[in-house]
Amino acid sequence: MRTSRAIVQTGPRALELRELPLPEIGADDGLLQVEACGICGSDYEQYQGALPVRFPVVPGHEPVGRIAEIGDVAARRWRVQAGDRVCVEAPIPCGHCRECLTGAYRLCSGHRRFNAYGYVGLDVSPGLWGGYADYLYLDPNAIVHKIDPAIPPEIATLFNPLGAGFRWAVEMPRLAPGDTIVILGPGQRGLASVIAAREAGAGCIIVTGLAADEHKLALARDFGAHHAINIEAEDPAAVVRDITDNRGADVVIDVTAYAVEAVTQACNLARRGGMVVLAGTKGPKPVPDFIVDRLIMKELTLIGALGVDYGNYDRAIRLIESGKYPLARLHTHTLPLEQAERALRILAREVPGEDAVHIALVP
Ligand SMILES: [Zn+2]
Ligand SMILES: [Zn+2]
Repeated sequence: MRTSRAIVQTGPRALELRELPLPEIGADDGLLQVEACGICGSDYEQYQGALPVRFPVVPGHEPVGRIAEIGDVAARRWRVQAGDRVCVEAPIPCGHCRECLTGAYRLCSGHRRFNAYGYVGLDVSPGLWGGYADYLYLDPNAIVHKIDPAIPPEIATLFNPLGAGFRWAVEMPRLAPGDTIVILGPGQRGLASVIAAREAGAGCIIVTGLAADEHKLALARDFGAHHAINIEAEDPAAVVRDITDNRGADVVIDVTAYAVEAVTQACNLARRGGMVVLAGTKGPKPVPDFIVDRLIMKELTLIGALGVDYGNYDRAIRLIESGKYPLARLHTHTLPLEQAERALRILAREVPGEDAVHIALVP
């Protein structure tokens, strides 16, 4: 029997390397040989057991790889053939529910569970539903994007944060040329938002972070941020007032993890009638000092942003292929499959001396 190595999560903070059988591929599905899988901030939450995921499960929802096997029907549908390099989207939508049919397939309600790569358990055949493995099963409803095979696979996995940048920082808040945008958090999503905002013609891009983020704030400047502020040394409200002539920012996006006070801060930094995008998950913590009247008086629009969608992934992939930005500078760590746990702990700053922006696992 042919098998694939896979990292299996059996519970909170419990990962083990196993051999899982490879499925028989029919006319309608396929098999991806994983070349790299990006590690997302939510992967760490999943590792900790903070997400509603049923164990055992193979984590990893940002895979890039080569089509190893594919059926005729699937090849025609996806317009790909064996050997092509593709990026695979996380959702595996049903295609028939209201959300799918109105274009919001990320929010598909057609499955009883959250049906996405990295979250479907081993109990659902064939079990290879995660990118932390040598092979990934390509379900008939999977969504794949071809990407130039000349792009190194670990750089190709940046299609995820970059797609998020285009959707969260530009499309959802309708960021227009000349606008001022404040990005709270200089992690991979924050830096991707800098690039997306620059592509959209933002007039002023301001990024905030902590003293420990100095390296990332420097990267933000290099990628086009006009101001990158360490909030432990400088008051972002004063900086934004100064830059905008007391008006406030047109768009504020919060991509900080766990920091609940960033939500109040985002509302304070936005101008009257401005847009606030909340995309940094906080766990079950409430937001302190959130005074609703301030939001009403300023007529702010608050937007919750979770996933990315087809058009924005496409935009991200074209940007990667263009070679316009030195994206390799965002990719700081490549680790082998066996070191999945270490990779997750590096991303969460649990490993002293390591400072990551973007990490990929390479089988
Ligand atoms: Zn993710
Ligand atoms: Zn659906």
